Amino acid sequence: PVVLGIESSCDETGAGLVQDGVLLGHAVASSMDEHARFGGVVPEIAARAHVHAAAPVVRAALAEAGLEMADIGAVAVTTGPGLSGALQVGVAAAKGFAYSLGVPLYGVHHLAGHVAADTLEHGPLPDPCMVLIVSGGHTSLLLVRDLARDPIVHLGDTLDDAAGECFDKVARVFGLPYPGGPAVDRAARTGDPRAVAFPRPLTGPRDDKYAFSFSGLKTAAARWAEQHRASGRPLPVEDGAASLQEAVADVLTKKAVAACRDHGVDTLVVVGGVAANSRVREMAQQRCDAAGITLRVPPLRLCTDNGAMIAAVGDLLVRAGAEPAPLDVSIDPSAPLEYAALHPVNGT
Ligand code: ATP
Ligand code: MG
Ligand code: FE
Repeated sequence: PVVLGIESSCDETGAGLVQDGVLLGHAVASSMDEHARFGGVVPEIAARAHVHAAAPVVRAALAEAGLEMADIGAVAVTTGPGLSGALQVGVAAAKGFAYSLGVPLYGVHHLAGHVAADTLEHGPLPDPCMVLIVSGGHTSLLLVRDLARDPIVHLGDTLDDAAGECFDKVARVFGLPYPGGPAVDRAARTGDPRAVAFPRPLTGPRDDKYAFSFSGLKTAAARWAEQHRASGRPLPVEDGAASLQEAVADVLTKKAVAACRDHGVDTLVVVGGVAANSRVREMAQQRCDAAGITLRVPPLRLCTDNGAMIAAVGDLLVRAGAEPAPLDVSIDPSAPLEYAALHPVNGT
């Protein structure tokens, strides 16, 4: 069947249509501009924007695919993690579509969606594969087997900030526009990555090999900016951005490649919004090439939040014969990533 995927966990409203691993059409609306003057996502504004965009993005995805509502054979929706008001809008919309069309509903973990995004470009994931999730809220190394059936093994997570959060917060300190990640990437193009020797947290011989920490790096970058300002010198933002990006990319790719080597896994998949970062992509490729590891990274448009990735998980679940979610399924704003399907029962 054609699976409709709906994503609304943060500030992107996404709809995607996937059948047998093939992306047929998708559309994304973002309320990013409405949050810019607040310097971060305002949950109430995000939720209201989803109410506005939910039906139009589904219509746009159908139009792109050349399909009609009646062609939809299953609906998948992000039930967590994310902002609760935002999630509720997508889940309510998805239930309306599933109930009125008389098709099964699947509740999907947002991060499983980020992982599955890559299958839309590069085909089925090998079993096993190593996944580095780097997004606005998460930084994790995962050992993934069959995404639709098997539990996901967490090798390590961030102990404090996520990599995307680090980019976003440092960008603010540097006076770069919101959202910070893409702005740092742009500024870094004309900067010197060796200008500032920022720390490489948790890369010492006695540190947890697979854990991450970015709050110290964020503080170091803020202190560097303060020192410049205090001395009256203009802030070389490009050098700071390039050096920060170099440090983040260095830590992420070093740990990910080591995890592959330690576990005898020959494929690394880098997903999530920070997988859009040019230096992360470049350094991951260099290090994987050197280690004989196959690197898979989704195209830019599928790295950040979208509905196609949720449809991709739904499609895997349908084909694996997974149990659909009941129509009273609730949301889970802080759902741990254990399985791709998230079917918490209403009220739990
Ligand atoms: P999560 O997926 O953890 O729930 P999220 O959905 O908000 O969080 P994503 O949409 O996956 O996160 O990614 C957004 C993050 O990616 C932001 O922190 C943003 O700054 C970062 N990002 C996007 N593009 C780039 C880039 N080119 N370089 C660095 N960071 C980037
Ligand atoms: Mg977003
Ligand atoms: Fe995300």
